[in-house]
Amino acid sequence: MDFGFGPKDDLFRREARAWLKAHLGGTPNRRDWERTLGRDGWIGLGWPEDGYGNRRAGLTRQVVWAEEYARSQAPPRCGHIGENLLAPTLIAHGTPEQKARFLPPIARGDELWCQGYSEPGAGSDLAGLRTTAVRDTPDTYRITGQKIWTSLAHEADWCFVLARTDPASRRHHGLGFLLVPMDQPGRIEVRPIRQLTGTSEFNEVFFDGATARAEHVVGGEGGGWRVAMSLLGFERGVSTLAQQVGFARELGEVVRTAVATGAADDPVVRDRIVRQWAELRAMRWNALRTLGDTADAGAPSVAKLLWGRWHRRLGELAMEVRGAAGAVGPADWSPTAPYELDALQHLFLFSRADTIYGGSDEIQRTIIAERVLGLPKEPRGAQG
Ligand SMILES: Cc1cc2nc3c(=O)[nH]c(=O)nc-3n(C[C@H](O)[C@H](O)[C@H](O)COP(=O)(O)OP(=O)(O)OC[C@H]3O[C@@H](n4cnc5c(N)ncnc54)[C@H](O)[C@@H]3O)c2cc1C
Repeated sequence: MDFGFGPKDDLFRREARAWLKAHLGGTPNRRDWERTLGRDGWIGLGWPEDGYGNRRAGLTRQVVWAEEYARSQAPPRCGHIGENLLAPTLIAHGTPEQKARFLPPIARGDELWCQGYSEPGAGSDLAGLRTTAVRDTPDTYRITGQKIWTSLAHEADWCFVLARTDPASRRHHGLGFLLVPMDQPGRIEVRPIRQLTGTSEFNEVFFDGATARAEHVVGGEGGGWRVAMSLLGFERGVSTLAQQVGFARELGEVVRTAVATGAADDPVVRDRIVRQWAELRAMRWNALRTLGDTADAGAPSVAKLLWGRWHRRLGELAMEVRGAAGAVGPADWSPTAPYELDALQHLFLFSRADTIYGGSDEIQRTIIAERVLGLPKEPRGAQG
């Protein structure tokens, strides 16, 4: 499909590819990698404002960079939350002072962020959150409560926290969107959650009177819900296409394994493989078609439903083609120590989460039902 890539985009592609080739390989850790990307202007390509050391790039070049990044098998970005979620939110809702304080270190890869939305009793029903932020001095808030599933909190320097600033308020009223420094010993405790995969990408985060500065409330006191929802709108876009490059690589691995194990001789397996391939093509065309189109209210939910299910099915297919060997863990497996899985086992286990995070399948269907099809709103009980 011609997405309007021109000769200058091809040049840009060559530049991106060459840069990645030259810089991958010797990178010591993920944080240093972020700084290397930042130093050479590869963070914040899509920001409408420059002057932060970032290159400015239109949509086609953002796609090119994202695709080349995924193709190069560079490390997963631990700066993703700051760059792709918080930065666009600050650009849309932040004060000039907030932008000047927080955008440059994100662009340099110096400050990492995590997202403090979900709580034990408030995931899909985010408006039920109970964390409070009390104005204790003219300049500060004190935050008390618990967040959960907080990806990368163990590495992050800052957390954007959705909390109740007005104790008398209910649901989505009276909330604040606060930028909170994580280095507050005794007041912020991060406890990693061990996952099926044996790794701990996300955490519980406990706030016990943690401090946030009043000037670091984005969107004003009580404006938290609007800001928080606007941020969720940035959880998609160009990165979908990069994600699909990764999906294609995983599918390639499944195909190679199916051939090697003989599973590819089974007509049912062949049918499932071809189906995965065809659906991935359709998802790519759909992503290109809807890129930059903010008018289609259902597009993000449709895309999420398609890829979440697709990826989970790919994980199941991966185990099928591995055969019995897929169910065998590492020899040194222990319920308490980290363990290594091979790529297909990791794919199978981690993809179980794909229909949950970023809004579960049920929630995406509700959005489509209410906002696109105009069905009556679902009953929300006394709280609604
Ligand atoms: C890998 C991963 C990373 C995450 N990272 C973060 C992060 O960095 N920061 C953060 O804040 N959160 C994060 N989350 C949390 C994620 O946003 C929540 O898990 C998600 O919103 C679902 O909330 P919940 O887990 O509380 O499930 P619940 O909301 O309790 O839902 C349980 C089940 O009930 C269904 N359900 C709930 N309400 C309805 C309804 N009204 N109608 C029909 N069905 C319904 C859901 O679809 C689901 O199947 C992450 C989650 C995962 C899996």
